[in-house]
Amino acid sequence: MTAQNETIIDLISLIEQRSPVRLIRKASTDGGEYWGNCPWCGGVDRFHVWPHSSSRPHYWCRGCNAKGDAIQLLKDYEGMSFMDACQ
Ligand SMILES: [Zn+2]
Repeated sequence: MTAQNETIIDLISLIEQRSPVRLIRKASTDGGEYWGNCPWCGGVDRFHVWPHSSSRPHYWCRGCNAKGDAIQLLKDYEGMSFMDACQ
C-alpha cells in the first residue's frame, strides 16, 4: 500500500468515523468524487469529497461552502462539537 492510498482511506474513514455521514462514489471527477449528507448543514448529497484528488484529498459542501482537507475537517468538525458542548 502506498502513502497515497493511506491518505485516501484516511479522508473517507475520518468522515465516516467522526460523523453519521456515509459517502458514496458518484462521479469520476478528479480521480473520483464521493457524495454524502453534509455534517455541518445537513444538506442531502451536498457534501462532496475528492479523496483521490491530484492536488490533495479535500472536501466541499455546495450548501454551506464548508471546504478543506483532512486537517481542516478535524478542526471544523471538532470545533463545532466543542461549541455544542458549551451550549
Ligand atoms: Zn453543508
